[in-house]
Amino acid sequence: MGEEFDFIVIGAGSAGCAVASRLGEAGHKVLLLEAGGSDRNPFIHIPLGYSLLYDNPSVNWCYESLPEPHVNGRRLFQPRGKVLGGTGAINGMIYMRGQPQDFDGWAADGCIGWG
Ligand SMILES: Cc1cc2nc3c(=O)[nH]c(=O)nc-3n(C[C@H](O)[C@H](O)[C@H](O)COP(=O)(O)OP(=O)(O)OC[C@H]3O[C@@H](n4cnc5c(N)ncnc54)[C@H](O)[C@@H]3O)c2cc1C
Repeated sequence: MGEEFDFIVIGAGSAGCAVASRLGEAGHKVLLLEAGGSDRNPFIHIPLGYSLLYDNPSVNWCYESLPEPHVNGRRLFQPRGKVLGGTGAINGMIYMRGQPQDFDGWAADGCIGWG
């Protein structure tokens, strides 16, 4: 409890792991906190194993939406990872290439290096 850190990152999901890693590589002392457990479930590491993690509360928050007026008041299931790696650990591992025009637009708006 007496330890000090330059940064505390909450959530070791897709974004939190990358942010913590980059901060560490830059020489900062980082505490990365994750609500879920380790990623030892084998279906995290087997492509298409995600279908068995889709509603598995040991690695998934298993959220539900509020009743949605546009789908007849139904609550929709909202899976989200609760494990090291976050939703990236329970997702479909699908890679999609972004539209170049989107990136170029962000660069034109001032995001240097995104083009
Ligand atoms: C079913 C499904 C399939 C998907 N398939 C694909 C795919 O094939 N390809 C693709 O590119 N994208 C896919 N996605 C989307 C992608 O996985 C997410 O957009 C991405 O993982 C989100 O990253 P994130 O860092 O924002 O959040 P997350 O990765 O969800 O990370 C958030 C982390 O914070 C933790 N956390 C939350 N609250 C606290 C707290 N209070 N204290 C500590 N820790 C906390 C959570 O447990 C979690 O680990 C899919 C998403 C879902 C739901």
